[in-house]
Amino acid sequence: MGCANCQEQGGKWVHLRMCLTCGQVGCCDSSKSKHATRHYRDTGHPVMRSIEPGQTWMWCYIERASLAATAMWLARRGNAVCHPREGDLDDA
Ligand SMILES: [Zn+2]
Ligand SMILES: [Zn+2]
Repeated sequence: MGCANCQEQGGKWVHLRMCLTCGQVGCCDSSKSKHATRHYRDTGHPVMRSIEPGQTWMWCYIERASLAATAMWLARRGNAVCHPREGDLDDA
């Protein structure tokens, strides 16, 4: 398992994130190419989870917040789309 884009380019990644909308795996923002963030920009898929061993948190690019607390709620609903609240993004 790895970042497909990095593997294609012969690049290296630091940590991996998985898109909960389509299952695409990309590398984190500590990695040179930031493919997970690019995937969000390209597709609008907002929720990534860490697939590093022992890590269970999620990240929402729209809310720019960790979704650890709501991860189970989202999983139960089978719905990887979160809902930003108007005004919450202003101070980001
Ligand atoms: Zn990558
Ligand atoms: Zn996706």
